[in-house]
Amino acid sequence: MVNGKNCVNKTLLVKTNRNTTATNDNILLQCESDNTTDASHFDKHFWRNVNVLTNPCNFCKIKTNSLFTRPTTSAIDLSALENLTTTTKRSAVCGIHCVWCSRTYHTKCFEKLDELLKTECDYGTLRNIIVRPQCIRKYPDRFRAVNDDKTLNMDSPLIVFINKRSGGQIGEKIYKKLLKILNPRQIFLLDNNQTILNALEIYFELSNTRICIFGGDGSVGWVVEKLADFYHELNNPPVAIGPLGTGNDLSRVLGWGDIYDSKRLLSTLLKIPKSHPIPLDRWHVVVEPLSQILSSSSSLPISITSTDHKHRNKVDLRNSKYQQDFLLNHNTPKFIRESNRPSYLNHRTLPNSYFINYMSFGLDAAIALEFHDKRTRDPEKFSSPFKNKFMYLNESRKYMGDFTKSNRWNLSAYLTLICDDQNYTNSVRNCHTLIVLNIPGYASGTNPWGKSSSNSSTSRDFASSNHVPTTSISLPIAEESYELVTLNKNSTKSPDTTTSISSLVFNDQHFGDKMLEVVGLSATHMGLIHVGCSGIRIAQCNQVRIEINTSMTAQLDGEPFHLPASNVVKIKHSGQVMVLRHSN
Ligand SMILES: [Zn+2]
Ligand SMILES: [Zn+2]
Repeated sequence: MVNGKNCVNKTLLVKTNRNTTATNDNILLQCESDNTTDASHFDKHFWRNVNVLTNPCNFCKIKTNSLFTRPTTSAIDLSALENLTTTTKRSAVCGIHCVWCSRTYHTKCFEKLDELLKTECDYGTLRNIIVRPQCIRKYPDRFRAVNDDKTLNMDSPLIVFINKRSGGQIGEKIYKKLLKILNPRQIFLLDNNQTILNALEIYFELSNTRICIFGGDGSVGWVVEKLADFYHELNNPPVAIGPLGTGNDLSRVLGWGDIYDSKRLLSTLLKIPKSHPIPLDRWHVVVEPLSQILSSSSSLPISITSTDHKHRNKVDLRNSKYQQDFLLNHNTPKFIRESNRPSYLNHRTLPNSYFINYMSFGLDAAIALEFHDKRTRDPEKFSSPFKNKFMYLNESRKYMGDFTKSNRWNLSAYLTLICDDQNYTNSVRNCHTLIVLNIPGYASGTNPWGKSSSNSSTSRDFASSNHVPTTSISLPIAEESYELVTLNKNSTKSPDTTTSISSLVFNDQHFGDKMLEVVGLSATHMGLIHVGCSGIRIAQCNQVRIEINTSMTAQLDGEPFHLPASNVVKIKHSGQVMVLRHSN
């Protein structure tokens, strides 16, 4: 075993039996109880002999091993060395270490301690997040964590999920490290849905639990989805993030950092109990064929049926010969022109029905899909976050050249955008990417919506989240000379097009206000958002409907996929989950 906490000594509550079937190396192993009912029994140190002190001795504050009597090879002849008995080997022990509180002593220093210091364990600096071994009970068919001893000092017992595949080999290293400093029963590898549900079931009855997810945005979205299924709204253990992905946008927004730093692992864990729970919106996505809407609009899962009727004429227009001719004869973008390319073939279904960060359409998704495909085929080249970023920029460069030359192309020719029943299609006429944002973060640390003037989008707390202050924004307007292509002729007559964009007023952006921000980006914007510029603000709304005329690439929380032609994408609010905001 990696750390010896769960198999070294029978005085521990849990010990493993490896003759069991297990899909997860950690949680499904069967354990035996030592049948001890005296809770105080477990608040003793669990000492292990060690050959090398990895921390300074808690008594003399010295790390060196010189205080010990180590047998030297010069003092023992070879035959004697080969016949070392277990007893002789023990004499090589240099010190003693508690697997729970991590206190370490030289053996000689340990002998000088009074009895209380030798026995009573307070679980050390991580005492507030370590799950006490006596809290894990074994039942005939499962484990459960309970705390019926109110004297236990356990402010925020932590459930840790780790995606070992995230961040190259970093996930694996974190897993091994945490097994040494926490209770192995509170650490779970992200393996499959059942692994997550098992963990939630074990800890369902333990109060004040918090969760930390070590992984990328995809891992966070995965666990959050299961939390939303498992708990009533806002009753889930709030979530902190250890950023191991390429983007880590939610982690940045919540203050957990843009990249994992091993030197800060301990301090990050210690900040989890002090962090502030705050609600995060979730958004439900449905993709349906446009033809289905025309034939059975009464059975739509999203209640914007009246809008469907209003836009029937436009659907007819899009299917017209005029459009077909246009698409064939004009310089269409790569991801539409090459819709049968191999990299799209395995990504033709919606990767998820929910998002928490963003959904996007067009150029950015095409780049992401190409990148994703290359990473799947050749994972060796994508073994670290740094390499991933380099490869991503390389893919972007190929597409950017294509798009900056193609000024005839614009998104309004290929989709219809409706936000809260208002048609905004004309607003994306100069855009190559359309983004529907939930959080003020996108594409590894950018914010295409731009900062709010009051800069309060990340500072409002749960109590005030129902009050949305009105702030007048000075809007960045794209001054780009794209030729206007108007296939969706109806869209040019929509009410919004007569409104000057600069006269619009938006509320502060916040991930818990049940509102989405809709932003358009040209190819130029896509480069400039990385140096702090923002895109074209289109709308702030709580329902979005996007009708796709042609096949198109799209992205959902960083997962790219390819949408076939003549589909409608409907986005609506789908509850909230609690997350943790880390403030310095
Ligand atoms: Zn201890
Ligand atoms: Zn010492």
